[in-house]
Amino acid sequence: MAKVLAIANQKGGVGKTTTTVNLAASLAAMKQRVLLVDLDPQGNATMGSGIDKRELPVTIYHVLLGSKELRESLLHSGAGKYDVLPANRELAGAEVELVNLPHRETRLKDALQPVLAGYDYILIDCPPALNLLTLNGLCAARSVMIPMQCEYYALEGLSDLVNTIRKVRAHLNPDLEIEGLLRTMFDPRNTLAQQVSEQLQQHFGEKVYRTVIPRNVRLAEAPSYGVPVLSHDKLSKGTQAYLALAGELLNNAAQPAQI
Ligand code: ATP
Ligand code: MG
Repeated sequence: MAKVLAIANQKGGVGKTTTTVNLAASLAAMKQRVLLVDLDPQGNATMGSGIDKRELPVTIYHVLLGSKELRESLLHSGAGKYDVLPANRELAGAEVELVNLPHRETRLKDALQPVLAGYDYILIDCPPALNLLTLNGLCAARSVMIPMQCEYYALEGLSDLVNTIRKVRAHLNPDLEIEGLLRTMFDPRNTLAQQVSEQLQQHFGEKVYRTVIPRNVRLAEAPSYGVPVLSHDKLSKGTQAYLALAGELLNNAAQPAQI
């Protein structure tokens, strides 16, 4: 049965998509069966997986609105060795169109049910907003991975997200947990980054992943080739970091659940 993980942070540009694509590829390299769900109208995870978002007759948009089955919409990322439920700008319309439909928050969850047994991990790349799309991600997921940059305003944004997760848990998805907080684009020479990182560890303890993702130019370059960093530069620090994160995830899954 798949472990479903939403990669979410309403703050833009913190590394959600980079994490989703490279974690998917790293888990696939460790023989895990992975589905990447692109839940962002920007379609960056789709493009970063080597799939041209402009030429897609069927996307997650049709699945959420109920006009296509999930299985009809799945593609495969040859570069990443995982499956993709792709997105493009059409998805922006779903925000409005979903409002009047029944079960509007659980449409992704319902759509994923038939394929849960076929994967070990389902990773959902959420858009940079606490909107109905993100809500669908949080309802479909068992846990949330929160990528964040260690900056001054990061902690403030984090409390909004944690409050949203609490509300979703209370009303829509009682099983939802915070899987972990991931420090991204980390520069150890930056004193502020170190201080914020320490505060994170004080507040969230074990929930902060030991793996830290460094700022690494290879990670930023890889999407322009439509490949995960693993295929772009196997030996780069970015590749090593995301492989380590995948290893940490698999190890945590083998441990009893933390409260
Ligand atoms: P959005 O909120 O717009 O969806 P995001 O949270 O998904 O953004 P990304 O698109 O993953 O963030 O990253 C933002 C930018 O930073 C991209 O140009 C990406 O290539 C770059 N980037 C992400 N992580 C790293 C890193 N560790 N080192 C260097 N560049 C990075
Ligand atoms: Mg993104």
